[in-house]
Amino acid sequence: MESAFAAGVNGTELNAHELGHALGLVHVAVAGNLMFGSISGGTALTPGQITTIQSSPFVQDGAGGMFVSITPVLITPIPPAGILFLSGILGLAWMRRRHRAADAGQPAAA
Ligand SMILES: [Zn+2]
Repeated sequence: MESAFAAGVNGTELNAHELGHALGLVHVAVAGNLMFGSISGGTALTPGQITTIQSSPFVQDGAGGMFVSITPVLITPIPPAGILFLSGILGLAWMRRRHRAADAGQPAAA
């Protein structure tokens, strides 16, 4: 494939998308899916798309096996930095409050 996009930061997604076409996949109107019609950072495949890929004659090794394996990967979103910062501040305030409460329970020094 000759494409300026293929050489850029989105090259992996673009090549995977085009490989998906070669293996029988068509465009879908679901952002986040590898076969979305434009580069969107999406790499997800549906179970039906995986079945289509696995059914392609290009992945059959002729002995009942396949040249490809597809392993599901769980991707969880990372909280925005502001939420991480706020939870850190709240955690420190909670620890300080507990520390003060523990100090108040001890006998005063002479
Ligand atoms: Zn396409």
